[in-house]
Amino acid sequence: MPRDLSNSSYLPQNLSKEYPLIVRGEGCYLIDDEGKRYLDGAAGGVSACCIGHGVASVADAMAEQARKLAFAHLSMFTNEPQLQLAEEIVGFGPPGMARAYFVSTGTEATELCVKLARVYHLARGEERKTRVIGRWRGYHGSSLGALSYSGRSSRRGELSPYFFPATLISPPYCYRCPWDRSYPDCGIMCAWEVERAIKQEGPDTVSLFIAEPIINTLGAAAAPPEYFSIVREICDKHNVLMALDEVITGFGRTGRNFAIEHWGVTPDFIAVGKGIAGGYAPLAGTLISEKVNAVIQKKGGPTVPGYTYAGNPVSCSGGLAVLRYIQEHDLVSNAKATGEVLQGEAKKLLDMPLVGDVRGKGLMLGVELVANKETKEPFPRAAQISEKVHAECWKRGLSYCPLAGDADGVCGDAASIGPALVLTEDQARDLVRIFGEATSAVAERL
Ligand code: PMP
Repeated sequence: MPRDLSNSSYLPQNLSKEYPLIVRGEGCYLIDDEGKRYLDGAAGGVSACCIGHGVASVADAMAEQARKLAFAHLSMFTNEPQLQLAEEIVGFGPPGMARAYFVSTGTEATELCVKLARVYHLARGEERKTRVIGRWRGYHGSSLGALSYSGRSSRRGELSPYFFPATLISPPYCYRCPWDRSYPDCGIMCAWEVERAIKQEGPDTVSLFIAEPIINTLGAAAAPPEYFSIVREICDKHNVLMALDEVITGFGRTGRNFAIEHWGVTPDFIAVGKGIAGGYAPLAGTLISEKVNAVIQKKGGPTVPGYTYAGNPVSCSGGLAVLRYIQEHDLVSNAKATGEVLQGEAKKLLDMPLVGDVRGKGLMLGVELVANKETKEPFPRAAQISEKVHAECWKRGLSYCPLAGDADGVCGDAASIGPALVLTEDQARDLVRIFGEATSAVAERL
C-alpha cells in the first residue's frame, strides 16, 4: 500500500499524495515493501537510473572508493576518480569539448554554465553581457537561479519574486506551434525567436542562451532539425554563448551519446546530470568547449567557487563505473534499437481516445493527452487527466513521470517515459500495452 506521509517526521514533496515505499530495484523494475513490482518506465521516476537498478560493479566501485578516500575538498585537493572521469567524459562527449567540472545536481550544472559564461565575458572585457535567455516550459533546475531561466510555470509560481532578470522565449513545440505553423514550411520561427530576443535585449547585454535539445517538461518535444544550427549562427553573430542542458538527454538516452549529436552542432557548454551516475550517486557536471576553455585558460587564476560535494571522489567513482558499464554493454546502441521499438509501439496509441501526440527519440518518449484530438484542446487542469492515467498505470504495475502544463503552462497532460537503457524489446511492448490500458480505463470513465 502506498504510504500516507502527511504526519511523518519526513516532509514529503506533496502532503496530499501517497507514496509507495520502494525497497529494491532490479534492472528495469522497482519493488515495493509488499513485493509489488513496477516496470520502471522512467528510470527511477525522472529518467536518471540509465543502466538499471542493482548493478553490482557500480556499488562495488563506490564502496571501494569510500573505503580508500571518501572526501577531500576540491579547493585544496584533487582526486583520481574526478580526474579520470573528466578525461573519459570529455572523450565520450561530442567533438569540441575540452574540460569537465563536477557538481552534485543538474541544477548546479546549468548554473555553472551561467557562471562560466560570466567568467568568459569578463575575461574578454564584456562586463555588460550578463543576460540569460531561456525558454518557456523549459526546465533547468530548482534553485532560485535556475528557476529564473526555466519556464516551467508550476515550479516558478510563488518563487518568482526571488528570480534574477532573465528572458524567456517560446519553445520549439511543433505539436502546438506558438506561431500556428507546420514544419517544414514554418521558417523555423522558433529558432529566429532567439535572435529577436537578443536584439530586443541588446546584444551587448546578452551572455548566454540555454536550451534542452529535447524538452522533457513538454513531453519529449524535440527541436526541429534546423533549430540548433540556426541558433548556433545567431549566437556566434552576437557573441552569445550557447549552453545545452543535457541533464536528461545525455548518456545515451536518445540513442546517441549526447542528444545534440542528432543536430551536429557544437555548443559552448553541456550541462549533464542524472544518467552521469545512473542514480547511484548525486553527481552532475558541466562540459566546457574548447572555445570557452581557451579564454578561461588564458585568463588563468580562479574559475568558479566550489561546493562542498563538487567532484566528490565516491560520486565520481560511481560516475566512472556507470560510464564504463554503458560502454562495455553498448547501451547507447540498445537505446537506439529498443527505442525504435518503443517509439513504434507508442505510435499505435495514436488510434486511441485521448492520445493527441506521441513523440521523442530513442528511449525518451512523450505522450500528450488531449480532450479533442482534432482541435488539440487540452483538458482543464482540474480534470487531473495526467494524474488519473498515472494512477491507473501504478495499479497495473507501471511507473513513469506524469506531466502537466505543457499546453499553456497550466493545462496540458503528458507522460514522460524514459526507461533504463537496458530495457528489452518485450519490456518496451509491455510498457506501451499497460499505458494504453490505463489510458482506455480513464477514457471510459469520462
Ligand atoms: N535540467 C533538466 C533538463 C532536468 O530534467 C532536470 C531535472 N529534472 C534538471 C535540469 C535539474 O536537475 P536536478 O534535479 O538534478 O537538479
